[in-house]
Amino acid sequence: MGSTHYTITPVSVGTLTIERPQFVWGAGWGTEVQSPVLMFYVEGGGRRIMVDTGCADPAQAVKYHKPFVRKPEEEPANALKRAGIDPTQMDTVLCTHLHWDHCYNQELFTKARFLVQRVELQYAAAPYPIHANVYEAPTTGMTPAYSKTKFEVVDGDFELADGFQVLFAPGHAPGMQCPLISTAKGTYYIAGDNAPLYENLEGNKFGRPIPGMIYADLGAYYETFRRMERVADHVLPGHDMKVLDQVRYG
Ligand SMILES: [Zn+2]
Repeated sequence: MGSTHYTITPVSVGTLTIERPQFVWGAGWGTEVQSPVLMFYVEGGGRRIMVDTGCADPAQAVKYHKPFVRKPEEEPANALKRAGIDPTQMDTVLCTHLHWDHCYNQELFTKARFLVQRVELQYAAAPYPIHANVYEAPTTGMTPAYSKTKFEVVDGDFELADGFQVLFAPGHAPGMQCPLISTAKGTYYIAGDNAPLYENLEGNKFGRPIPGMIYADLGAYYETFRRMERVADHVLPGHDMKVLDQVRYG
């Protein structure tokens, strides 16, 4: 996995209220979960990499999506500053996928290259109707938050840096990509929305791990889970409040 060791810092930019089965198939019908919207800052070997860039402001979020609250200290620029992170010094932004709660605020990262999978960018432009709103797709009449971003488009797995692999991970979205990161405490895999909660990893009566209800290809989703379990020593979920119990990983 390379000799470089990285650290991973989760940064919350607000809290969504989500119907639990949307995140965990078949779990807790009629119940809700409070979920942070997370960016993950990865540093090591002279590299500064941001995984995802957070969501819209509360007005946009509530109007088009879900109940969402953001404290002043969770304003993206403030949240990064409080964590000691300067977005203008980021060399790379890795976009796990292009759902609205993962791809706002990209203008903060003024010097970064932005990496997205080709099939994700293609699908986001014209998703099936049930996914159009979550992409804020042009087919809904909206302008996606990343519309001014100059992406570098990638296809499949690649090594972003020594000890930092990016794995094509279709499931929740058709062009998901998830990083596998070498740390002093083993490899960490940022699952993003393929596993929004630890509950997805723990499973339920339908199996373990358990997908969410938003997915593009269920067969690919299960294959992605099998690969995740083969390669990762640790998995970080994409929207679990417990991720914030630890300031830094690795
Ligand atoms: Zn998503």
